[in-house]
Amino acid sequence: MNVQFTQTVTGFLRTPVQHFIGGRWKSDANGATAQVLNPSDGSPLATVAMGGAAEIDEAVAAAGKAFPAWSALSPNERAARLHRFAEHLEKHSADLALLESLDVGKAITAAEGFDVPFGIECLRYFATLSTHAHYDVPLAIKNIEARTHRAPYGVCGFVFPWNFPFTLLLWGIAPALAAGNTVVVKPSEVTPLSSLFVGKLAAEAGLPDGVLNVVMGDGPKAGAALANHPKIKRMSFTGSPEVGKKIGEACGRNLVPCKLELGGKGAAVVFDDVDVDATAQKLAGAITLNTGQVCCTATRWFVHEKIYDRFVDKVMGTLKETKIGPGPDRDTQMGPVVSEAQRQRVLRYVENGVKQGAEVVLPGGTAAPRGCEHGFYVQPSLLAGSPENVCCREEIFGPSAFLVKFKDETAAVGLVNQLTYGLANSVWSADLKRASRVAEHMIAGNSWINAHNVFAYGLPYGGVNLSGFGGGVNSPETFQDYLRPQTIARPLA
Ligand code: NAD
Repeated sequence: MNVQFTQTVTGFLRTPVQHFIGGRWKSDANGATAQVLNPSDGSPLATVAMGGAAEIDEAVAAAGKAFPAWSALSPNERAARLHRFAEHLEKHSADLALLESLDVGKAITAAEGFDVPFGIECLRYFATLSTHAHYDVPLAIKNIEARTHRAPYGVCGFVFPWNFPFTLLLWGIAPALAAGNTVVVKPSEVTPLSSLFVGKLAAEAGLPDGVLNVVMGDGPKAGAALANHPKIKRMSFTGSPEVGKKIGEACGRNLVPCKLELGGKGAAVVFDDVDVDATAQKLAGAITLNTGQVCCTATRWFVHEKIYDRFVDKVMGTLKETKIGPGPDRDTQMGPVVSEAQRQRVLRYVENGVKQGAEVVLPGGTAAPRGCEHGFYVQPSLLAGSPENVCCREEIFGPSAFLVKFKDETAAVGLVNQLTYGLANSVWSADLKRASRVAEHMIAGNSWINAHNVFAYGLPYGGVNLSGFGGGVNSPETFQDYLRPQTIARPLA
């Protein structure tokens, strides 16, 4: 593995990385630490502090202390500070991309081309939006002078997963900060590095102490302490439905509004009038993107029987040509999965799928690039057969897809809607009327046409059913979610 460490990243990783609370680095009260591994070769990457209830408490207090001054800034003043923060993040794009690639194992070109710039754009989008928003909306009511006043909530808690640590961090905190809230973040214990580095950059960019706090730790201790904290005013969680339910329960007990962005099992419906080669190539890319560790990606492929064989040939060809290697290598197209546990999960699913009778189209396996034998590599796999197969029903979160043939539109829509996941699906057809109809009938937060994984700011993104609730991300509505409405009324008579 050939890694060009920047001086900043080397310095950042050298010491045990501490929590970032109230604008300062803080070690853990109990001195607890954990090792973060480099998935590309299994080597130790950094040692990080592992906090719990005490550190979360301290961070919530710091965020509470920072709230009055931060929320009292005019939207323009706050936006100016957030734009300065975005500029500073941009200045450190190369460091952020390298950290993300080292920590997650993702291809450095993807981190440079998508994760980092797209995350920074989110901060700019919400900072700008906040200067155009209406914070007082007059209400036309007979005999009453009335308005809806919108004000930030206070301290908002965020718990994130490991697959897009930097991008998801910004998707979460940007609207909350722009609306005048202060935040406490608990990143995934598997990939905490870019979030902590963002804390350092926030301080350097002059973001006031306590506005952004980052506490590391595992879910049951630190994550649960944050979700249960009586002083948070809003909670936002991105991760699995299993943990999402726990977060929802905790917030329900405290009557804290919460946003849940959960897992998915995205489907792609491919009709027989598509450009088969182009569609096959794009869908192959859907499972190699971030090594298939993408909540919304297409992993159930329903392909019209007339083009099925040609489609499968082309997908196999594309997957076999995909360059698998260490994340930081420039020619890597697909890196390892994030951890040994994740690798075992993917392998177990494929094994169980085969035991349940799936046809093996492409077997997958664990071949690793030379010199990286201790890395967490999984080769792409394709299974086919019954839609009842476990691999067609459950989220695997790896480079694996399940193929099913279909005959007609109604059958295809039925297959898509047989699961209670509801994050994102796509339909592929040259007949745009049909595509639009199918897009409407597939039950999910997002339906994409002739593409999968479509993201832009202003385009709402979120899930329904098992994939979450609470408003989603990336749109003007997301910004409003971080403002509490207050009716102000004066009778005129
Ligand atoms: P996870 O649910 O296991 O963990 C997510 C976070 O929750 C981690 O920070 C973890 O420490 C924390 N956590 C675990 N137990 C907790 C508890 N009892 N209380 C509070 N916090 C707790 O998910 P993961 O394995 O990190 O990520 C993969 C999952 O995330 C997949 O299901 C994926 O689809 C989903 N995801 C969803 C989106 C989306 O936008 N909908 C985006 C990315 C990932």
